[in-house]
Amino acid sequence: MCEACWELIAKADDDEFLDSLELTYVERKLLEELYKQGEDRIMEILELQGQALQDAIAELSEESLGDIGELGKVLIALHATDVFSDMFETAVQEAFEPLFNLAGESELLQLDKEKVWTTKNKAAKKFVKEIRSLVPDMNQSSTDTLLRSFEKAIEEGNTPSERALLVQEISAQAAGGEDGPFSMQRAQRISRTMSTAAANGGKLEGWKQSEIAKGKKWRSAVGTRTRKTHRRANGQIVALDKPFKVGSSKLMYPGDTAGDPEEIINCRCTMQLVLD
Ligand SMILES: [Zn+2]
Repeated sequence: MCEACWELIAKADDDEFLDSLELTYVERKLLEELYKQGEDRIMEILELQGQALQDAIAELSEESLGDIGELGKVLIALHATDVFSDMFETAVQEAFEPLFNLAGESELLQLDKEKVWTTKNKAAKKFVKEIRSLVPDMNQSSTDTLLRSFEKAIEEGNTPSERALLVQEISAQAAGGEDGPFSMQRAQRISRTMSTAAANGGKLEGWKQSEIAKGKKWRSAVGTRTRKTHRRANGQIVALDKPFKVGSSKLMYPGDTAGDPEEIINCRCTMQLVLD
């Protein structure tokens, strides 16, 4: 799909998602801004990673380029580099911790104007730890994707120089392409997944701090791209401190990073408060 089409779809989904959160105009503008900042920062980091991959591949000999073990080492070094991991973790925290707080505070104030939102609790700290802990997994999935492509290239090439050329092509494509581990699409996917987790996680914490909310109701995103398991979860009501059952995962809220990746990636579901 063309990049512009992809962006249009992502934008439409985001609008729908943000609408469902029922924020004030100011909150919504702030949330959109934070979301955009997170996406931009993640994109920058992915671009840097892509460039670092290109540099590392350029230094390999023809022989090493046809050796999956050597390529694996390059990828692991690339993703395990402290600089990238730190940048990634910081970017994720800086963009999505404010979202968590914004969503929580806004819910709390709607329920009880006297209450003061606090982040000095376990939930807020846990959320930050959880989103940061997703970074190694994200790097692992990027390593796996690239390794599979390299393996295929090595199988397809008939001579050492042909194999080297194919591997170089894949690396160049990955670094600058529309799709793959370092692309805008991936930045959007990460950012969208995180923003769902932050908005819903914050909401839940706001409800808890109100001390009057009793339960929560799953609201699946409208649209044909909503997963079957999430459409089935629509309307499910559980106590505030109990998880929703979604597919084979137990999720405290849509986007809960404790769930399986297949139940949280790109999820745009939300939830509603149940008062009694
Ligand atoms: Zn969903």
